[in-house]
Amino acid sequence: MDKSHELNIVEKSQSLVGSSSELLYGRLNNKLVHIEEVSHGLLCDCRCPHCDALLIAKKGNIRAHHFAHYAGADCGAGAETALHLMAKQILVTHRCLLFPGESVSVDDDRFENLDLQRHREAELTQFERVEVEKSIGSYRPDLTALTSEGDWVDIEILVTHGIDDAKVLEVTRAERTMIEIDLSYLPRDSSPTDIEHAVLWKAPRYFIHSSWFAETKIQLRQQLSSLHSEIDKSKNDAILNVNSNESVMLLGYKFGAGYSTGKQSNFEISHLFCVAPTQKNGTVNFSIRSSGGFEPKTMKVDYALNETLKRLNYPCAVRLQFSAEPGYGRRTKWIVTGIEQV
Ligand SMILES: [Zn+2]
Repeated sequence: MDKSHELNIVEKSQSLVGSSSELLYGRLNNKLVHIEEVSHGLLCDCRCPHCDALLIAKKGNIRAHHFAHYAGADCGAGAETALHLMAKQILVTHRCLLFPGESVSVDDDRFENLDLQRHREAELTQFERVEVEKSIGSYRPDLTALTSEGDWVDIEILVTHGIDDAKVLEVTRAERTMIEIDLSYLPRDSSPTDIEHAVLWKAPRYFIHSSWFAETKIQLRQQLSSLHSEIDKSKNDAILNVNSNESVMLLGYKFGAGYSTGKQSNFEISHLFCVAPTQKNGTVNFSIRSSGGFEPKTMKVDYALNETLKRLNYPCAVRLQFSAEPGYGRRTKWIVTGIEQV
């Protein structure tokens, strides 16, 4: 929606200024009408939006124009019911609504830098159809709308009470999208234009339940879990390649840094030297014809183990723990991050 509309909102009619509980909307032939649209007195032919009592249009020169209950006391709820009904009327007429933006993310304690999140911006959504008070299984939203993309969306209008927990549960169970529009801040004597702008795009709105959110969360979790199993598998492979008996003979270690004139860049080495039983099993591209005894291995080691490595008497038998190194191409590389003497 064009944001320049925002400027027009200030065009509030001065004649409407009155107490906030004043009733400015009456029901005429099942449609809400503003006090300025009707004739004076009983000629207005309006009824109270809440209690259906006959209304009289008071359009004198002293007080702000308003409706009063013709006989008996004011039910006191006409203005709130009117705002609620106006909001529904506006959505049925305009068949569009600004959907709030939303973000989904999944946490992962193994890989902090993993970017597993999705976001979608707030968007003005057009409806093919808008239905009022249509029952959806066990609950009945204020409105139900079909978007031009073919998705059903339930809409709730909040004037005094938000939807209760039972309804939230039902919507969630039904896996339907529901948006609540919060009009509680809106003065009850707002002009038709103010109410229209509030309902369509200006008032706070949020998803009570969002199918997009739920589906995206499932997708992200699946993505994360397949990533984990891929890494676990490759980790197992890496460990098996080092030593099938889990323990290795540690010969020594070396940490250093230098400058490579060939590559014209700084480099560091963090090496662990081991002796492990020779490789018994081949890989996809490599087969073992015959092997026996032991073979030397060089592995990358975390500098955080420097103190542990200093204290060992070499050679010694150890068990190694590996962690994936983040951010290096498609194949996971492994680094020794734990040493346990056996
Ligand atoms: Zn009433």
